[in-house]
Amino acid sequence: MNDIDPQSGKNTGEQNQNNPNKDPDRWRKWRTPLLYIAIIVLGMSIFNSIFLDRMNPTIPYSEFKARIESGEIKRVELSDSYFTGYSTQAQLTQSPMSLPSTRSRSQAGVYRAVPVNDPELIPLMDSKGIDYSAVSRQNSFFLNLLFTWILPIGIFFLIWYVISRRMGGMGAGILSIGQNKAAIVAEGDVRTRFSDVAGVDEAKEELVEVVDFLKKPDKYTAIGGKIPKGVLLIGPPGTGKTLLARAVAGEAGVAFFRISGSEFVEMFVGVGASRVRDLFKQAREKKRCIIFIDELDAIGKSRINSVMGGNDEREQTLNQLLVEMDGFDAAGGLIVLAATNRPDVLDPALLRPGRFDRQVLVDKPDLKGRAEILRIHSRNVKLSPAVDLEALARGTSGFAGADLANIVNEAALLAVRAGRQLVEQVDFQEAIEKTIAGLQKKTRVLKEEERVLTAWHEGGHAMVAAFTKNSDPVTKISIIPRGYALGYTMQMPTEDRYTITEKDLLGRIDVLLGGRIAEEMITGQFSTGASNDLTKATDIARKMITDYGMSERFRNVALTTRGMGNMLGEQAQEPQFQREYAESTQQYIDEEIARIVNSEYAKTQKLLKAKKPLLEKLANELLEKETLDEKEFKALIAED
Ligand code: ADP
Ligand code: MG
Ligand code: ZN
Repeated sequence: MNDIDPQSGKNTGEQNQNNPNKDPDRWRKWRTPLLYIAIIVLGMSIFNSIFLDRMNPTIPYSEFKARIESGEIKRVELSDSYFTGYSTQAQLTQSPMSLPSTRSRSQAGVYRAVPVNDPELIPLMDSKGIDYSAVSRQNSFFLNLLFTWILPIGIFFLIWYVISRRMGGMGAGILSIGQNKAAIVAEGDVRTRFSDVAGVDEAKEELVEVVDFLKKPDKYTAIGGKIPKGVLLIGPPGTGKTLLARAVAGEAGVAFFRISGSEFVEMFVGVGASRVRDLFKQAREKKRCIIFIDELDAIGKSRINSVMGGNDEREQTLNQLLVEMDGFDAAGGLIVLAATNRPDVLDPALLRPGRFDRQVLVDKPDLKGRAEILRIHSRNVKLSPAVDLEALARGTSGFAGADLANIVNEAALLAVRAGRQLVEQVDFQEAIEKTIAGLQKKTRVLKEEERVLTAWHEGGHAMVAAFTKNSDPVTKISIIPRGYALGYTMQMPTEDRYTITEKDLLGRIDVLLGGRIAEEMITGQFSTGASNDLTKATDIARKMITDYGMSERFRNVALTTRGMGNMLGEQAQEPQFQREYAESTQQYIDEEIARIVNSEYAKTQKLLKAKKPLLEKLANELLEKETLDEKEFKALIAED
């Protein structure tokens, strides 16, 4: 959606060459007056929205259309802020500026609706022979009235602002400043499909189900199932969350309301809340639709963590959102999607059942996914047959979908600049280099040695887990960089565990040490990459001794530290602890931790050395595919 079409970029370039000075000159001449007109129109429409709103409440767009269809509306004025229908042909010279004098006769036969981008409207009006025109409201009184109105209004605003601050936002209802800015895309207008999204197969799978909910809610409700109301898409920026939400609307053929969390949070207290209310009201009129809240964290930040009083405005908006989420029934065909890249800061209330209780991970694409994304985005680009998208995908580890879309675009522009007819591999390479330079500030893009090291490191964790009895099975291994982590190995318990034995704990330490040992095996030295693993391993060893009574000297004795409470109330970061054992015991604990970790290290080293060929195969497989799931990993291990 956001990408500049390289094709059209090329076209305009050619046009400008044909008539190089005609268009720019004309534009310059008109620029200033146009600017003034824009400012005037803007000013007028603000006035309109304030005063006309009070006089003529809006009707739903569907009703507006029905009244056109029934022939009740004879004339229509289309403006940016409202569609106004009149039941008589006559010109009612109804200007907001002449408001006091026309108040008595303004109501009859005037219908106003909030505009909807509906391609069917014009043909409909044509077929009904309706007189329609686009309007920008201006008249000659304007300057005059500006001075007589602007001052009182300014004062009014100031007073309203102060009052609404005091009353906690109750004033917002008076003026509908809260009219939401969510772009309404009418049904059928969403052209995005799942086939436009690649590299996020797991997320797609989950969302296919959501599409099914929207298409056939009865199928689920008949059996007594509850349709989820909210689905939260979690993932780093640019991985296709917005795109996926659009694709869900497109696939289900329902309307799509999109609004960004930051748009809710405005200067005036209460505006955000009324915006949420409006948004849901409009959505409910649509029957089947999707509301998409981008950047949910902007409103959904946890209320607990905001120590310094918090933000009234955001809190009210959040509360309103919670109220609305509780207040609708998903069986009616409304589903709320939201996106965030900071799930950790979200208010827990948002994640409760009946709200955003479904969470879908939208992660950065792996090798195969990246090749597919490149393919999707170069569908409309003329590629030289020599271009090897697989090779490009290999060189872009850690790139998100948006970065890849950008690369295709950039490559096309570079080709145009070089005067080529087709985009060549070199164009892509140059585009990638440019992007890497920019990306390196935000995320890690791994160098080849780092990739190898990471593959061995993660492979080490996974191997140890596979050959340690009672260890949780490895469900995913990845060497796609993510934030500060260069890769990860995921283990998932197969059943709930209530007690963990001494052996299991030692096994966990082994798995954690496996990464570092594997690194050492290939480079012959240590790197800093495993420090987090070491911290965790040490923690487990410490707990074994102090909390679980698993040391030799203090077998079955808990060496507790007691919290002293804290002076600052609940908000304080770290409670203070006091040790309840002797200094010499502390020394024993430290030595014992080192002994446990070191002996586990030696043990695990032996294991991995014995399995080195398999580990090497695993590392190579990881370098090739970047992620391995449970099945692939098991198959590889089984070959041993
Ligand atoms: P997010 O909302 O996660 O930040 P967007 O959906 O806004 O990311 O992605 C921006 C653009 O990048 C999309 O419009 C699309 O062109 C491209 N893009 C991102 N992810 C993908 C993907 N998985 N498949 C195809 N294109 C993608
Ligand atoms: Mg987005
Ligand atoms: Zn590790």
